[in-house]
Amino acid sequence: MILFFDFDGTIIENRARYHRVHAHCLGKTPAVLSETEYWELKRSRIPEKEILRRHYPNVDCARYQRERELVIESTEFLAFDTLLPGAHETLRTLKANHTLILVTLRKNSKTAMREIQSFGLHELCSDIRIAAAGKDPVAKKIELIRHDCDPSSWVIGDTEADILAGKALHLTTCGVLSGIRKKECLQMLNPTHLVTSIGELLSLLR
Ligand SMILES: [Mg+2]
Repeated sequence: MILFFDFDGTIIENRARYHRVHAHCLGKTPAVLSETEYWELKRSRIPEKEILRRHYPNVDCARYQRERELVIESTEFLAFDTLLPGAHETLRTLKANHTLILVTLRKNSKTAMREIQSFGLHELCSDIRIAAAGKDPVAKKIELIRHDCDPSSWVIGDTEADILAGKALHLTTCGVLSGIRKKECLQMLNPTHLVTSIGELLSLLR
């Protein structure tokens, strides 16, 4: 069976990076939101603009957004990403019986590939597919998956793009709650399965 895995929030933890970038982009204004508070807003799909309006009314939103675009995937901040607990072991176990393909949307494919390799994921995945992040993430994910999926394939990920791409291709979808969307957001999309982390795939696929 082919399992198409998302990367950010599915295999790796991004919350520390996102909060560090947030604090950096505020410039001289001190961050009043803790990492947990900020991440909960992100998980509830509150846009950066709205977070600033609520908590940092004096920060120049356009400047903040420009800086965020520049640094969010910089090597300096990617260094704060970590593998989610048990993720590597889970993938290694699944690899024995399944084909694992990594599909991710990133602005910078070079730093993404370096990061994927630094976590040793290139040794576990048969293929690594990266498309440019930006407009229409669902269509981009579909493009990365469509040419070699079959009806038994699964799409596993933490965001709308993963679930909606899988559904558009009539595949089994598995939402994971380890990333940037909370349960209510993913539940609304009605994925085939909804799990806390990819570790639960071991029993689901048995
Ligand atoms: Mg993701």
